[in-house]
Amino acid sequence: MQTFPMFLRMTDREVIILGGGEQAAQKCRLLLKTEARITVVWPELDPELEGLAQAGRIAWETNIPPSARLSAATLVFVATDCPGSAHALHALAEDAGALTNVVDQPALCDALTPSIVDRDPVVVAIGTEGTAPVLARQIKSKLETLLEPGLGDLASLAGRLRPAAARLQPKERRNLWRWVFSGSPRARHKAGAEREAAQQIKDAISAGGAPKEDRAAVSIVGAGPGGADLMTLRGVQRLQEADIIFYDRLVDPAVLELARRDAERVLVGKAPGAASWPQDRINAVLVQAARAGQKVVRLKCGDPAVFARLEEEVEALENSGLSVEVVPGITAASAAAATLKQGLTQRGEIESVTLTTGHLKPGTGAPDWGTQLVPGVALAIYMGVANAGEIRDSLLSRGHTAEHAVSVVASAGHPEEQTLHTSLGRLVEDMANAGISNPAILMIRHPKSDAAPQARQLRAVG
Ligand code: SAH
Repeated sequence: MQTFPMFLRMTDREVIILGGGEQAAQKCRLLLKTEARITVVWPELDPELEGLAQAGRIAWETNIPPSARLSAATLVFVATDCPGSAHALHALAEDAGALTNVVDQPALCDALTPSIVDRDPVVVAIGTEGTAPVLARQIKSKLETLLEPGLGDLASLAGRLRPAAARLQPKERRNLWRWVFSGSPRARHKAGAEREAAQQIKDAISAGGAPKEDRAAVSIVGAGPGGADLMTLRGVQRLQEADIIFYDRLVDPAVLELARRDAERVLVGKAPGAASWPQDRINAVLVQAARAGQKVVRLKCGDPAVFARLEEEVEALENSGLSVEVVPGITAASAAAATLKQGLTQRGEIESVTLTTGHLKPGTGAPDWGTQLVPGVALAIYMGVANAGEIRDSLLSRGHTAEHAVSVVASAGHPEEQTLHTSLGRLVEDMANAGISNPAILMIRHPKSDAAPQARQLRAVG
């Protein structure tokens, strides 16, 4: 670190701004959020600054102050809108030994102004020492979505209630504030129910601590198709609270990175070449961990409600008296549709989507894909790579032609995502040539305006 981040108390401290145009006005706007005494020095002021001076909110001087004044100021900003005069004024301020910021010239700055996420009194400052302002802006916009606009008010409320909470034991106090900022009070406050949130906190303080966890014992969370940024914010929050995470093989490691460093991670899916965990065993370890008081996340790829044996796990947990919540995720079909830039439905043409499986459960026979694909329907076939030949045969046997278009999206949402546009007739061969392997989704559409396969079949027979 070449610079040292810190927050300065500005009450009654003087800040001198050398400049009278837009740059100076910008700095003024920022500093007016503090309690600093602001002096603007320039022969002429733009209308905004002039207004502020007339209203007495800033002082205005026309001559550059002597060196002693500059050095006595807490900060000096050089904001002249003119690089030439900026250099000269910077030299003056530097000679005076003042802590100086020259707008837009990081090399000349002793003090750099960070990017700010302002939820006063909660303020996040982001600095890159001038190396990557674009990165600072990206981080800022991420934080802007993470920190709701009213968060500062909640923090102020907490600040006012701190003295009352001081009588709690340290452990209870920590739990109280953790609950305030991640539990019901924050949720209610965020939803606009500020009074209710305040009452909840006061009640908890009177009762000697936060109420028993109002969170489910186990969260079954959808990890999305891959790529940490395709997960929901709620899912990320659950991951960050988890003590232990049971995850499937198809969960992207980038998603697991979002969990706390010290959270335990247990792979319960089938690893290639290794034995699969039977569902009973998965259910048993979930129950065991939750009963031991750990915060449990069961992380499943895509959406937990799509081909993910959701009910079996919910039932096992609820039968053991444990509370469960389900956090949805983006299912592979949605991710594939996004990759293809194609709707899962299409007005007037595709009115329903069938999420179906290409996996043949032993002894149950194959789903009849051929009858599933009727006009107005799109099939999104999960787990279909190994049985692409059977899927093709089923469709051909129901009158679909070998030319019928098929799209395949492999690893949708991952950096190594792959797309293949082919036909029923060439599906198996083209997938092999393109080296497509699981996880992949087959998308086969039958728009209404195409001839019905039955009619074609009859024509072919006739
Ligand atoms: N619950 C998951 C589906 C689990 S079944 C979901 O909602 O997406 C596993 C199958 O999902 C894989 O065989 C593959 O067909 C599909 N799948 C999962 N992730 C995928 C991805 N990133 N790209 C394409 N298909 C994917």
